[in-house]
Formats: sequence, C-alpha cells, structure tokens
Amino acid sequence: MPVSLRPHLLLLILAWLSLMSVNTVLAAELDLPLLVPSIATPPGRDSDGDGLPDVWERNGYTVDGVFVDLPGMGADPRHKDLFVWMDYMVRPDATNLAPSQAVIDNIKAVFANAPVANPDGTTGISIHPLLKFQVPFAETLGSADDENKVWIDFDAVKALHFPAAYAKSFRYMIWANSYDESSSSGLARGIPATDFLVTLGLWEPAGGTDWARLGTFVHELGHCLGLTHGGSDHDNYKPNYLSVMNYFFQITGLYKNGVWGDTSQNPLLFDYQRLDTPPLDENNLNELAGLGSGVTGYGTKYYGPGSPGEYAVADASGSIDWNRDSVYETDVAADINGDGVRNQLIAQNNWPHIDYNAGGLLGPASTPAARAQADAAPRPDALRHELDFATSRKIANTRGADTPAN
Ligand SMILES: [Zn+2]
Repeated sequence: MPVSLRPHLLLLILAWLSLMSVNTVLAAELDLPLLVPSIATPPGRDSDGDGLPDVWERNGYTVDGVFVDLPGMGADPRHKDLFVWMDYMVRPDATNLAPSQAVIDNIKAVFANAPVANPDGTTGISIHPLLKFQVPFAETLGSADDENKVWIDFDAVKALHFPAAYAKSFRYMIWANSYDESSSSGLARGIPATDFLVTLGLWEPAGGTDWARLGTFVHELGHCLGLTHGGSDHDNYKPNYLSVMNYFFQITGLYKNGVWGDTSQNPLLFDYQRLDTPPLDENNLNELAGLGSGVTGYGTKYYGPGSPGEYAVADASGSIDWNRDSVYETDVAADINGDGVRNQLIAQNNWPHIDYNAGGLLGPASTPAARAQADAAPRPDALRHELDFATSRKIANTRGADTPAN
C-alpha cells in the first residue's frame, strides 16, 4: 500500500508547492498576508538545547542596535548556558544584599554539577550570574494589601539598567530587601518565568547567610526554570522530594551521607532532585521500605505527631517510622508532608525537566508582546508567599531531631 500511495503524495506536494509560490508572489505584490503557510524558516539550530541558537552563542545578536555579546560573556554553542542579570540593593546600615563572590561561585558549582549532557561530551550547565548595578534601596517592594504591586515596583527597578535586547536571552533578578512587607525569602514571577527576587533583608543576619542566599537563589531560579514545590504539583514538604525546591531543603541544603549542605559547607547539596524516588501513598505507607534502595546516601525530613512535629532521618533508604509509633509496619496511614490531607505524594527527577527557554519567553521566538502578556498574568497561587524567616528557623532547628539507626 505505501508504494502505490507515493505518486499521489508526490503530486500533492508539487501542487502545494506551486500554489504556495503563486500565493507568495500575489501576497508580495498586494502586500497581503500569505493565505497558505509558507515553509517556515527553520529556527536557528540550538545544538546544546539551552534555548539559545548556535548563531547567537557563536556571534552574539543585535536588537534595535544593541549588541548582546553572548560569546564574550561565556556562551558556548556546544555546552548549555544560562544567563542571569543580577541587580542589588544596599541597606541603609550598609549591609550589602548582593551575593559575595563565594555565593556566586557556589551557584556556578550547583549548575556545573547538573547531570545533563552536552554536545561537547561533558555534563553540566554553565550558569552566568552577572552582578551588575546597585539600585536604589526600597524597604519593601509592593505592599501587604496589593499583591500585584510587587511586580510594578520590580519593573521600575528593572527598567533602570536592564537593556531590552537582553530580555531575549537573560533572566533578570534583584537581590532586594523584602516584598509585600514580609520576610518571605524570595519570589518568582511564574512557573516558568524570567524574573525573580531574593529578599532576605529581614532575616538574621540581614541579607541571610551565604547558604540562605545560595539556596534561595537556586530555589527561585528553579521556579523560573519550570520547577515546583512538589515536583509533580505544588504540594510542599514531600519526604520523597529531595530538592532545594522543597522548603525542607531550601536553606539547609539536602541531607546526604549524614550531613546537611550548610553545616558541611557543600554547595552541591543545594541541588535540584537528580534521581527518581518512589511515590508515597499516605494511606498505605510501607515503613520498612522507606524511600527505597535507590536513594542510598540521602536522608530526608517528614512531618509526624508529637513534638517537635518534624523529624529528620539520616538514611532514607532504610525503614522510616512514618506514624511515630516506634514500630515498623508495612501498611500505615500518616500525613507525612503535614498538609492536612492524606494523598499520593509524587516527586520529580528535576534536572531532566529544566525549561531552558521559559516556555518561549527566551530565545528567537521571544517577543515583547508575549513577555508583556506573561507579565500581566496573575501570580500563581503557589507563588504568593514563599518560605519566611520564622518557618526557615524552625526547619533548621528540627533537622537533627531524629536520626534513627534504622
Ligand atoms: Zn518557591
């Protein structure tokens, strides 16, 4: 059958091509839009799949006379690159909210360690966090009673220095003091998105520790890269979600080989999830199985009855007493992520799910109109209020409350 169809197919293609060329001539003469689709110009090859065409990464690009020198800033068409423009504020007490070089180096280390392949034969992502301009200090962006104002204030700061030409290839963020008059650690404009904030000015110490700065930057950028608080959804605190996107791990980093990211000063534990973990059915938990043998080395945290109410376990591949009754059973029901309901907890291996072009907001197809439309979209429910200082302190203080020997 396929053989006898071929001549017909050929005729169809020829007819379509001739129709299109006539139509193109007509359209050109009459200045009309094409009535049949032209063969679209193939999008520029993007060998490394980072959303930036090879030709941009090799030669840079120009928009409205402004040249964006991507290769001069480190782009490589054969290795994934992420560009982030960072402006920053300095508090009146002279506390600089900008990251130290150590924080910037740690951000680079987290992404360089990514388990993603490149055409150059290596793994990892080259992130380019460019610390640019000090911007005027604002005690808070937005206000407590108008949750949309934060992005109006944000855009006003962004407009001071960020060239429009860069909007096709850069994410933009501000190391600011606070937003909505709260101690919420940061905010992303959407999932995915290109804009985000880190706001640790009301934390202790003001501006946050270097680890809080690292974890919050990676977390908020993670939203811009399409990642959520639950992996498969927005549900937070899943014990099987071993990611800095989970509030349990944003400030301390992950718990691995018996140590936490911050106390062991290991930036590589401020990681997105890099392995598959089994779903956990809160109505039917096998305490003997823990998170399974695949998570060897990782610990985790979970919610349970009693005080302090959140517990750490050093080896999540071993047994975990989810319902805290001191007996390991094969079928228990427990609300282990503390959200008030018992359901199926499904995490995500994050790194294969990175959205490199923010749903088309970056790259050659990016237009000011599309970006404006995305900017005007309502803030997702999951992104109204992020991890605040009091909650982070409780999480940090309970991390060692329980490390059963399994
Ligand atoms: Zn978040």
